[in-house]
Amino acid sequence: MLLLATLAGVAQAATLRVRLDDGLVASLDGQQYLYVEATPLRGEGLYGFARRLTGDTNTVHLISRLNGKPRRLLAGVRYKVPFSVLKEDLQLRIADALFPNDRTVSNGREHTVLPPPHTPSLWRLSEWFTGDGKNFARIREANNMTDDGLQGGQTVVVPADLLLPVFRHELPALDYVIRDEGSHAVYYLQKGEALYSAVVVRFTGAIFAEDVHKIAAELADLNGIKDVTDIPVGRAIQVPFDLLLPDYLPAGDPRRVTYEQEKTERQKYSNTVRASRLEGITVVLDAGHGGSDPGVSPGGVWESVYVYDIMLRVKKLLEEKTSAQVVPTTRDGDRFEIIDRDQLPKSRGHAVLTNPSYPIVDARVGANLRWYLANSHHRKAVSRSSDPAKTVFLSLHADSLPTSHRGMMAYIPAASLTQGEYGKSGGEYSQRKEVKERPRVSFTYKERTRSEGLSLQLANHLLNSFKHKGLGIHHHKPIRDRVIRCRRCRPWVPAVVRYNAVPAKLLLEVCNLNNSEDRQLLQTRAFRQKVAEAIVDGLLSYYGQNSLDDPPPASIAAR
Ligand SMILES: [Zn+2]
Repeated sequence: MLLLATLAGVAQAATLRVRLDDGLVASLDGQQYLYVEATPLRGEGLYGFARRLTGDTNTVHLISRLNGKPRRLLAGVRYKVPFSVLKEDLQLRIADALFPNDRTVSNGREHTVLPPPHTPSLWRLSEWFTGDGKNFARIREANNMTDDGLQGGQTVVVPADLLLPVFRHELPALDYVIRDEGSHAVYYLQKGEALYSAVVVRFTGAIFAEDVHKIAAELADLNGIKDVTDIPVGRAIQVPFDLLLPDYLPAGDPRRVTYEQEKTERQKYSNTVRASRLEGITVVLDAGHGGSDPGVSPGGVWESVYVYDIMLRVKKLLEEKTSAQVVPTTRDGDRFEIIDRDQLPKSRGHAVLTNPSYPIVDARVGANLRWYLANSHHRKAVSRSSDPAKTVFLSLHADSLPTSHRGMMAYIPAASLTQGEYGKSGGEYSQRKEVKERPRVSFTYKERTRSEGLSLQLANHLLNSFKHKGLGIHHHKPIRDRVIRCRRCRPWVPAVVRYNAVPAKLLLEVCNLNNSEDRQLLQTRAFRQKVAEAIVDGLLSYYGQNSLDDPPPASIAAR
């Protein structure tokens, strides 16, 4: 490819031009508009030219106007065609030619911003890759950018769901076959990919071993694959629409449209609270399981005692380094004590700190009392600060996914799955103060949507701080708004976040206990401390603060 940068005039900034193999020229003008420039073929009129490059003759007038309304096309003269109307394959080639450092990442297209004079505005960048400048705010949000300015060399990920179809297809190349008797997507297996992770986990959202195997067997059957461990590269795999996650459905599919609408709704809400050293912030910390319920325990490593240790470390960091008010939901024994060991002793001593407390005998009762307790703390916090956005809720867990998966994953509540009214009574519930205070919960549409939006934002901050610390992140969809378990079952949201009145909340799987490396790591103090630091950093950045590592402002350092 030949790179030509020319000055088209004194008043105009340089146009960047890259010649494609077949004589077409990709160009980016001084106002950062993308075009292809092409010469007409022998005997080609405007209609033929338009059809060849855009696949459509409705673009004739646009092309004519853009090129000064020529009466006929002249041989050897280059005419411009705007990027937005080009055929998809040409759009891809133009983008690849002008932005050679861009690459496909798991959650979208990572764009490397060109240096001046070709540095676009965020609006323009959004137009290029999503077809609409108005998506700039969502790109800014997804990248946790503090302002709209872009700088040469900076990388920006355009989230998959915003991308123009042409770029989205590039992610995992999916074709669609739409039929009355059942539509499906087609994926072509790439080198080194297996049916389980490359297709089932990625496109259906299933992650639990049993589900993944079941769906893989179903797909193997459907596709006539005899041996799932020996599938040739390039083999087309059909995936029925009803198995696909909504973001992999074609644009316009009703389920995808609903999903996009929900996403648009939640984007309306973002955290505006800025809290120096988390002053005035209440952090409700929940260590999952405990008492008679060890959680998952592969290799005899109890989820309950390790996540409780991380909870203690987060608590300690928050209390020592910030002004946040920390309220744990459980305690092992009669005081909070970090056991300074890599491998932790088993314990069944955890109780939920309701009034009176509940030594965890029944895991379900324990889970329900946690959200009753969290809601009670939240009501108190709101009565103090009158701002619900000043409370966050984190429930810490470790995953039990198939062994190949590693890293953190966060579950936030999907607004559509937290409808209805709910409450418990009788037995262990009635005597507890937190239940008596507010026996039943229900949330308005606005509350649920706001909660989804804020929780997503919080999850993104945590994800970034995990990345920053070099901690593992789940490869496929590290932030999920529902648990998908079992084929054709209704997706759900875990009770501890589902009935939780704290707006910003999530269930955090710190790693996958079934993976031997993650399991080894969790049995080290260093890892648990790092996770705790990442969590605190994530909370700080959610409230607009620097991480623990950053030096304090001079005024504090001088004191
Ligand atoms: Zn758990």
